[in-house]
Amino acid sequence: MTEWKRTYYCGKLRPEDVGVTVCLNGWVHRWRNHGGVLFIDLRDSTGLVQVVFHPENNKDLFEQAETLRNENVIAVRGRLEKRPAETVNPNLPTGEVEVIAQELVILNKAKTPPLQIDDRITVDEALRLRYRYLDLRRPEMQKYLAVRHRVAKLTRDFLDQKGFLEIETPMLTRSTPEGARDFLAPSRLSPGKFYALPQSPQLFKQVLMVAGVDKYFQIARCFRDEDLRADRQPEFTQIDLEMAFVDREEIFALMEELVQVLFKELTGFESVRPFPRLSYHEAVRRFGTDKPDTRFAMELTDFSDLVKETEFSIFRQVVAGGGSVIGITAPGCGNYSRRELDELPRLAADFGARGLVYFALTGEGIKSPVAKFFTPGQLTAICERAQAREGDLIMMVADETEKAREILGGLRLEFGRRLQLIPEGRHDFLWVIDFPLFELNKETRRIESMHNPFAAPLPEDRAFLESEPLRVRGDAYDLVLDGVELGSGSIRMHQRELQEKVFAILGISPEEAREKFGFLLNAFDYGAPPHGGIALGMDRLVTILTGAESMRDVIAFPKTAAGACLLTGAPAEVEPAQLQELSLVSLADRDLIVVKKRKNET
Ligand code: ASP
Repeated sequence: MTEWKRTYYCGKLRPEDVGVTVCLNGWVHRWRNHGGVLFIDLRDSTGLVQVVFHPENNKDLFEQAETLRNENVIAVRGRLEKRPAETVNPNLPTGEVEVIAQELVILNKAKTPPLQIDDRITVDEALRLRYRYLDLRRPEMQKYLAVRHRVAKLTRDFLDQKGFLEIETPMLTRSTPEGARDFLAPSRLSPGKFYALPQSPQLFKQVLMVAGVDKYFQIARCFRDEDLRADRQPEFTQIDLEMAFVDREEIFALMEELVQVLFKELTGFESVRPFPRLSYHEAVRRFGTDKPDTRFAMELTDFSDLVKETEFSIFRQVVAGGGSVIGITAPGCGNYSRRELDELPRLAADFGARGLVYFALTGEGIKSPVAKFFTPGQLTAICERAQAREGDLIMMVADETEKAREILGGLRLEFGRRLQLIPEGRHDFLWVIDFPLFELNKETRRIESMHNPFAAPLPEDRAFLESEPLRVRGDAYDLVLDGVELGSGSIRMHQRELQEKVFAILGISPEEAREKFGFLLNAFDYGAPPHGGIALGMDRLVTILTGAESMRDVIAFPKTAAGACLLTGAPAEVEPAQLQELSLVSLADRDLIVVKKRKNET
């Protein structure tokens, strides 16, 4: 074949095209030799099509085709024909046609791949990550890449239309506090000094507001050196934006429209606007978390006042000590077997509980190991408060209020899943608002920002900043979807005095504030407009939009839970000379490392 370049894409061929001569380029997905006829499924980025080699048409060609193996890269020229009715494959978009091969060029051979390019086959993830270029060939992964591209494109178009400018901010910068550890990059030119990779573009986007940019956005890479959980990556992408002269209403309206567009375009789901709102305190009180999944009820109930004078001493003591007795009611679990009931405390322990008390409302009355400590009247009151009926199960935890809520919040989700209370196809968007500005770090006993140190206090709470900082609510908000935090933002402080006051409450001395954030404070001196913004986690968003199993599936080259890139082997050791160049080791240390390295090599 003199000319091997494609004239058609495999996955796009349809019965209307029958009769044309096509030249296809792609990978041998599968081959079958059926009694002297060779069938090849040829794959390119658009899908598969069947190519047929008949020995009687051209013997040399057939023999050449017989040498083909999976993942060989080929070009085929042939005539597109309708498949005989009995061989039509209704599961394939190209299933009504096939290409009768006339010419073949093998563009490249391939070793037997260590993983099969097939969505139906589950493979060890480490293997997938090591051979990511093979893993990404799978149609599902190709789809994820495409959806991610669409999210970026739709977002850009949407924000462009709303008058936003896309502006890049530096990767090599100073620490931007978002509550995580920094990744540092040593400076060669300034020995002993370091750049920090940005935890977010926060400081720069605020400076841009002072610079007269009215609306900024960026699809921004952020870096946070945290212990990884299943849904975290050390580097991740945010749809980050900031607006001047706004209040939160304007930001909410804009974001609601954006996510509505994304969900409609990519999943067909029509969200209802405006999205409901819950204050942080209400969310935590009713659902035990600041990111409640509101697709099912099973809300938390506080029993403290009912049980504080019962014979059950644990309840009495906890309430007397300022804690709470909180519970949930699991419908239909009242007839759990002895074994299932015995397992409940262990389940609760997984969520941090020291113990769990249950009341099973069976046909023969209330079953509970602690029932004897309660009078019939008290038991009736408990059931009433819990709105429990025969067949239900009340579970209670007694602890510090915050902790008890958190545990029940976890159990609520667990039982919501177990009992399949979440309606198929439903999505609940929710704004959680009025977050406390500060929280107390229980270990260090220090006051920390709940969001980041730039969120503004609500005007009506400002009077308590110094006297009762923990009571102050911030103009900070989260966008929550089905119990997942999609994004976070706030209206910021734009006056130097207020920002300095907040730094002081956070224990940041004026010198430290000037050293670390002086450029922002100085910028505030020159006419900073009121401003605010938000950032959506793009990886999480795409995970939800695609229904992918893991966030790693929607990132082309993700890291493992240990922060490693299995494809490239990063993080990796570097040459001692490089360390010396960066002033990270002295000459003497360098020689020591070289000697050690040699020893290891031999
Ligand atoms: N910079 C914040 C974050 O990364 C988002 C924002 O407040 O706009 O969480």
